[in-house]
Amino acid sequence: MQTISNLIGGVAVQSTSQRTAPVFNPATGEQSAVLPLSTAAELDDAVAAARAALPDWANTPPLRRARHMFRFKHLLDANTDRIADAISAEHGKTHGDAVGEAQRGIEVVEFCCGIPQLLKGEFSRLVGPSVDAHSIRHPLGVVAGITPFNFPAMVPMWMYPVAIACGNTFVLKPSEKDPSASGVIFELFREAGFPDGVLNIVHGDKEVVDAILTHPYVKAVSFVGSTPIAEYVYRTGTHAGKRVQALGGAKNHMVVMPDADMDKAADALMGAGYGSAGERCMAVSVAVPVGEETADKLVESLAPRVRALKVGPASDPEAEMGPLVTKEHMQKVLGYIDSGVEAGAELVVDGRGFKAQGYEDGYFVGGTLFDRVTETMRIYKEEIFGPVLSVVRSPSYDHAVKLINEHEYGNGTAIFTRDGDAARAFADHIEVGMVGVNVPIPVPVAYHSFGGWKRSLFGDHSIYGPEGVHFYTRLKTITSRWPEGIKSGAVFNFPTMN
Ligand code: NAD
Repeated sequence: MQTISNLIGGVAVQSTSQRTAPVFNPATGEQSAVLPLSTAAELDDAVAAARAALPDWANTPPLRRARHMFRFKHLLDANTDRIADAISAEHGKTHGDAVGEAQRGIEVVEFCCGIPQLLKGEFSRLVGPSVDAHSIRHPLGVVAGITPFNFPAMVPMWMYPVAIACGNTFVLKPSEKDPSASGVIFELFREAGFPDGVLNIVHGDKEVVDAILTHPYVKAVSFVGSTPIAEYVYRTGTHAGKRVQALGGAKNHMVVMPDADMDKAADALMGAGYGSAGERCMAVSVAVPVGEETADKLVESLAPRVRALKVGPASDPEAEMGPLVTKEHMQKVLGYIDSGVEAGAELVVDGRGFKAQGYEDGYFVGGTLFDRVTETMRIYKEEIFGPVLSVVRSPSYDHAVKLINEHEYGNGTAIFTRDGDAARAFADHIEVGMVGVNVPIPVPVAYHSFGGWKRSLFGDHSIYGPEGVHFYTRLKTITSRWPEGIKSGAVFNFPTMN
């Protein structure tokens, strides 16, 4: 069985850790690899490699850094299917979905090809007599990323291309559930000609994460994962003096107004609720039809679609949704469905007991639809991260907005309507970081930035795009005067223009 290596200083290094974790193919339930859970000393080696590469990389002209990014982007484009296969084999998502994931990651690399433009400073002539000022952005140094299982290629690419294009060097700690996609991409990164040590990958769990959070030479940490761990990472990292952006969990609502096209709204909910088996931080897990009549029509449209959902392994080209990532996660999702039934929600379509033919040991849960879910139920309050859509019937638009604003998460949301006034008011008043108007999964493109509000993001910066550039750089402002402008005599008052 394959044992996965760390990638430090440009070479594959076998971990000497005594602790390991199994990696599974979620469609078959078979173990596919062994992942050593690296030690703090191995993280230290990766940081040392990143430190060694830093001075030259930070002093490489941005245009030359961008040229590496161009080569990297071409290689990623040429190898998208290979990356997608690596994603599907360990995550379970369908091939088409995995290709989409890779492409959204590549778009961040594409954004980074324009990095000289984004790193351009500002210059002010004559801020005082004979005095000019300019501001520039410096890289931070060695920075690190800790990533979740659900986008094993894209989420790391939200981080290291931006950090590296800005002149930093990087240590990545991928999810232990699907570590292989990052290895495939690392090969392409090397082939693109980036110097050794600019990107390093250390596999592991809490031991490596804690070592990152307290390492004196790690200047900033990007984290994406569940809210309790995001909060822990933010607190621990900032306590150790680091810059931290920690993106957490979500419960995304989609409001369906009475004037919406019900068929289109139902189609949108199918993709957003069940795509990737609901294992997306931007998945819609709550539909909020406004008015009883809207609710009846929506549930009537949804139910046959959910029953007809094609669930199967990624190797099945017909499959619209794959298995869940691990057996434990499957059991957790099944437990949530049980809890919804016990709490009195109406189970319209029951995905429990679903078996994919020929894949009986896979971690499959069928599409599940609940109606008449209420605010006090666990299935409403908590993130399920599975193919379970809850319908919360709302008596009015105002009630729908209040519901969303009072939820602890504020990652994404959407409204489906033909009414421009309602859509504009919704976008204005909703306390959520990413809003879709007739767009169910409003993940911002790479040249905007991604980030939720409330307990979906800890820290001051969203990820990638312009906010990513700010996160991975710090500002320096230089004020200069040349001998001709310098007057004789000491000045003891605070300097002013006069
Ligand atoms: P997770 O929090 O379990 O793991 C994320 C990372 O943290 C992994 O690398 C893991 O090894 C590490 N980790 C886990 N437990 C830890 C601990 N006790 N101490 C230190 N490190 C620990 O998340 P997951 O299950 O891999 O991913 C799913 C979650 O990620 C969902 O909650 C989802 O909403 C969230 N997510 C959020 C976004 C976003 O942009 N807001 C994007 C993708 C996923």
